[in-house]
Amino acid sequence: MVKLVRHRRIRRNLIYSVAEAARLLEINPKTFDTWIARGLPVLSRHPRLIRGADIKRYLDERKRAKVRHCTDDELFCFSCQSPRVAVPASIETVRVLTTGAAHLRGLCNHCGTTMSQLCRRSKVEHLSSCSGTPQISRSDIKIIAFQE
Ligand SMILES: [Zn+2]
Repeated sequence: MVKLVRHRRIRRNLIYSVAEAARLLEINPKTFDTWIARGLPVLSRHPRLIRGADIKRYLDERKRAKVRHCTDDELFCFSCQSPRVAVPASIETVRVLTTGAAHLRGLCNHCGTTMSQLCRRSKVEHLSSCSGTPQISRSDIKIIAFQE
């Protein structure tokens, strides 16, 4: 799994050596070899100097590229760290909000962990029609606790 790198300690307007940036980011300096090979711009090769703004931009783009949103058939599994299809019969409505969005729960079809997610109304209706959980009607638009 790719480590989440927090780059708040890096300043956009400063220039860093690889060793200095690696120390601030708490990563191995060799990681910069990979990042440079993948497109992180360098100001100079000897010594290797990198703009703070370029480090932040590179890490932001990397983070954005990794984000994968759940489709209407999926809930996010924190155990798998990925969107997963729930075992159909396992999907249940925990509560319905006044907006029509609902808090759903279901078992991950990959690892069996309980997934729990706040879903918009259209997704709730889609999953309800697939799984046989109670459809949400206008009369349900209040906070309701369903059976566990
Ligand atoms: Zn899972």
